[in-house]
Amino acid sequence: MEIIRIPRIALDTCRKHLLKGRSIGFVPTMGALHEGHLSLIRRSRSENDITAGSIFVNPMQFGPSEDFDKYPRDIENDIRKMRDEEVDILFMPDRSVIYPERFSTYINIGELSGKLCGRFRPGHFTGVATIVSKLFNIINPTRAYFGQKDFQQTVTIKKMVKDLNFNIDVVVCPTVREPDGLAMSSRNTYLNEEQRKAASVIFKCLTKASDMIKSGIINPEQAKELMLKAISEEALITDTDYASVYDPETLDEITEMSGDVLLAVAVQVGTTRLIDNVLINM
Ligand code: AMP
Repeated sequence: MEIIRIPRIALDTCRKHLLKGRSIGFVPTMGALHEGHLSLIRRSRSENDITAGSIFVNPMQFGPSEDFDKYPRDIENDIRKMRDEEVDILFMPDRSVIYPERFSTYINIGELSGKLCGRFRPGHFTGVATIVSKLFNIINPTRAYFGQKDFQQTVTIKKMVKDLNFNIDVVVCPTVREPDGLAMSSRNTYLNEEQRKAASVIFKCLTKASDMIKSGIINPEQAKELMLKAISEEALITDTDYASVYDPETLDEITEMSGDVLLAVAVQVGTTRLIDNVLINM
């Protein structure tokens, strides 16, 4: 595995592979790797000649009161995991080469970035789109791999790729879960034992509501009520940003069934913000 810290070198290395007719699969991450990240790497390895991963905790996507400083960093283990998964290129830039002084260009996705998490994390999706577009320009991947767990992120990146004519296939991979259903997340390490147990209600209420919607027992409005009630009964969930049913393309809340629907939840467990979702294909 080649570890590269300089954008120009990553760009040249990837270009050489592309000129030889090799496809490049790309898995951008913020590190603290878990099985969710590794599933994206494995998928990329199965579909491409070369797999490139990146580790960069992107300050631009964290709000001023968010957890940038305490975000888990585990670089030695991350490198080992990437190596074990036979990643070919690991791009690990320093903040100063990604955002040099006087950096001032931002990618604003528009309306989609103000929905769901965007209402609670202003600027977050501009930060995500800006870093992902920079990484796309450096790696020039054939395909890029993202997890369904961050559903809104996949929608905004697909929109950016379409609007800005990036010649990249965005591949969305299933959410990898703990045995009790909790979506794996680097932020789960913030939870104490009790909070960790309480957090399992998120996926439980999502699956219960989606099963009942699928069998026609409840409508989206009743699904929202069911999820909000289940969450409110869990004392260690201290706040609910949203829990409802949405159009998976526009991310608007829906009250009646029409085609595919997204059930999505964002809650606070103490100071930890957790998100999850389930997509129903009708
Ligand atoms: P992050 O390091 O949190 O920025 O995540 C990097 C990539 O891994 C993103 O595309 C995430 O959606 C994806 N990811 C994170 N958690 C999971 C998971 N539990 N299952 C699948 N993909 C995930």
